[in-house]
Amino acid sequence: MATKKTIKHKKGNVYVCGVCGLEVKVNNPCDCDDCGIVCCGQVMKPKKKK
Ligand SMILES: [Zn+2]
Ligand SMILES: [Zn+2]
Repeated sequence: MATKKTIKHKKGNVYVCGVCGLEVKVNNPCDCDDCGIVCCGQVMKPKKKK
């Protein structure tokens, strides 16, 4: 049984769309167990911090 990745949104997190490059910042986090922000039909990925 594979471990399922859950997405938790935190305030200030930045998500990037891998298709069009849209960036979204979380201003008001939610308490969902697994909720993705979808753009261009794909779930947006967290932006990597350097
Ligand atoms: Zn997009
Ligand atoms: Zn949510």
